[in-house]
Amino acid sequence: KPLRFAPVGLGDISDIFMRACAQSNKCKVTALVSGHAKEKAPKYEALYGISPKNVYNYENYDEIAHNPEIDAVYIGLPNSMHAEYTIRAAKAGKHVLCEKPMAISSKECQQMIDACRENNVKLMIAYRVHYDPMWQQIRKLARSGAIGEIQGFQGGFYGIKMHGWRLNRKLAGGGSLLDLGIYPLNAIRWFTGEEPDHFAAQVATKIPGPRFTEVEESIEFNMRFPSGILASSGSSYGENGPAYLSVDGTHGNLWVEPAFYYDGLKYHGTTIHGPVSGISPGKQPYQFVYEADHFADCVRYNRTPATPGEEGLKDMLAMEAIYRAAGAPIA
Ligand code: NAD
Repeated sequence: KPLRFAPVGLGDISDIFMRACAQSNKCKVTALVSGHAKEKAPKYEALYGISPKNVYNYENYDEIAHNPEIDAVYIGLPNSMHAEYTIRAAKAGKHVLCEKPMAISSKECQQMIDACRENNVKLMIAYRVHYDPMWQQIRKLARSGAIGEIQGFQGGFYGIKMHGWRLNRKLAGGGSLLDLGIYPLNAIRWFTGEEPDHFAAQVATKIPGPRFTEVEESIEFNMRFPSGILASSGSSYGENGPAYLSVDGTHGNLWVEPAFYYDGLKYHGTTIHGPVSGISPGKQPYQFVYEADHFADCVRYNRTPATPGEEGLKDMLAMEAIYRAAGAPIA
């Protein structure tokens, strides 16, 4: 029996997630939650065979508690709404797969973890990179000694995003760091298996005009890990730049670029065994299929997700430390 989802917020990412569920035999979309159900729901009802009686809005959302055709919600809302809709789902007894960033403060992340624990539901943060077999292979290689001891990382995710809720501090909680910089940050933490304990950072907004009055356009940050690993990374909404990660060892290097897109990913490197390279094992939304399947298995077999709420909290704590180091406001 597949895990039955209600996506909450029918924007870009929920659309991709629903396509992933359609490709999975472990997951199924059986309900919808939308503030614009009249306009958005009919298309998805037709595509995925969702009953109109399973369509909710933000006001009657808590009623999902009484719908046995919903096992879990997928939170695809603006960042500042993740906490409220996760906690309400937990109280309704539904499992939660929540998009990144987990929330807009570590305090909210902790409240989400507590609510899910108290209501005995699973909480997983949708870090799709962790579920990509190509990324799993690169991480295994990096940690196997194939490039010697890991000494450092460089990375970044730079793109053009200059509209909508992402530029509104109340909804986004921060700028490009929470949206894009979180990818190299999370990948670096995942690869090291350590938590950074020293930070340095700079934020800047170069583009004139009203677009970046509330959140930062660009950020560069450095982190030091307890083992001595140094990482240098950044993100921007205004630079048409790369999405990459470089893993530097004493005896080799792994270079992933593009690293954080939905597909078309590539890596190459030099190791003590010789050259290595690889590409994405599928087309979008393949990462979301692996991610959704993992979550379904966690619910079915009562396992802890590989990226639980605690993982989202650790990123949030690091991002708060990065903003603090930059002297930038924190949500
Ligand atoms: P989007 O703008 O396309 O969708 C947001 C949805 O929230 C829309 O359906 C919108 O109607 C709804 N919404 C409800 N209240 C709103 C309000 N007050 N203002 C604006 N929208 C409101 O955004 P998206 O790109 O789908 O991002 C949603 C979440 O998914 C974000 O947290 C984002 O960080 C995350 N995301 C993750 C990935 C990934 O690869 N994992 C990619 C993109 C976005």
